[in-house]
Amino acid sequence: MENRIYLDHAATTPMDKEVFEYIAPYYTEFFGNADSPHAVGRKAMGAVDLARDTVAELICAKASEVYFTSGGTEADNWAILGGARAKRKEGKTQVIVSAIEHHAALFAAETLEKEGFEVVYLPVNSKGEVELCELEKVLSQNTALVAMMTANNETGVLQPVQEASRMAHAYDALFFTDAVQAAPYMEINVQEWGVDMLSFSGHKFYGPKGCGVLYIKSGVAVEKLVGGGEQERGLRGGTLNVPSVVALAKAYEKTVQGLSQSNEKLKALSALFMQEISVLDGVTRNGNSENALPSILNLRFAGVENTAFLYNMDLQGVCLAAGSACASASVKPSHVLTAMGLSEAQAKESVRFSLGRRNTEEEIKKAARLTVETVRRLRGD
Ligand code: PLP
Repeated sequence: MENRIYLDHAATTPMDKEVFEYIAPYYTEFFGNADSPHAVGRKAMGAVDLARDTVAELICAKASEVYFTSGGTEADNWAILGGARAKRKEGKTQVIVSAIEHHAALFAAETLEKEGFEVVYLPVNSKGEVELCELEKVLSQNTALVAMMTANNETGVLQPVQEASRMAHAYDALFFTDAVQAAPYMEINVQEWGVDMLSFSGHKFYGPKGCGVLYIKSGVAVEKLVGGGEQERGLRGGTLNVPSVVALAKAYEKTVQGLSQSNEKLKALSALFMQEISVLDGVTRNGNSENALPSILNLRFAGVENTAFLYNMDLQGVCLAAGSACASASVKPSHVLTAMGLSEAQAKESVRFSLGRRNTEEEIKKAARLTVETVRRLRGD
């Protein structure tokens, strides 16, 4: 959109133009159903196989461990519901999830609670980090699954996934991490991280909406969530969205290739923004900035209600969010910020600026200037 400054990349990103052009023939020419046994189907399956190989290589997995889904929400639900239900067969009935998980994961946890699981919500400290001693306190031989996101979608704060995974395994529990926000900014190595399951989503890294990945380590039993056809090795029914799968792999490959360059740029732009708004008093950054993605600035402007700020910024051409896009229409304060100890009123003074690789210095300076002016105006200064 012309003249708009888009600072909501944690909600979604525009599709990379090269990726868009690359997949166009998969809608028109190579349109086959990847499960059809004839030449047109085989062509489609060939493209899916290649995409699966690409994704697998990039996350250090085997191709047979990569499952395509309809996005991060499905992947999160599948991992948590499918993993816990499978573990229940061993008699385990406790599930541990961090209190700051995405609503997709929290919904799955609530569903398990209704099924009779005991669900423990792990607290975070004021910096937005889960403390491992809290995990140690609640892990037991009854723990079926631990879910801890790699990076939080509202604050960008990174979580101690590798250590938590090791701790869960000591109790023979499954470990799942939602890497939807992290995938665009860090290299994923499922072997090094030691996770059993990991999810990510195409539209966070300039790929397609409605297409995601669930990695399931080979040998890990997970019940299926979406049944029907025998697609995805019998574990996830539904005709594969071939163009999106191809686009996801292409966009992810490009993202990983450009990772260090884009992260450097994002760090510089974030620093520039903070510098430019430093003339304002009463600004607090939510979350540990030393341990966060380079793209997200969650800022609290004391005395300024975020809904009024967002509305005013939108009118001036700057697209921002209060937190998770899925919850942005709701008036509820962020569960992430309140878990960090902010009061409801403080949470409602907080705004998420999420930068992207296409943002320019000029845009950041202009957004900062408008932020300063808008905060002052709303404060009546
Ligand atoms: N998990 C996290 C951390 C997210 O930020 C999101 C989307 O914002 C999701 C899961 C859901 O992914 P999708 O939009 O692909 O369903």
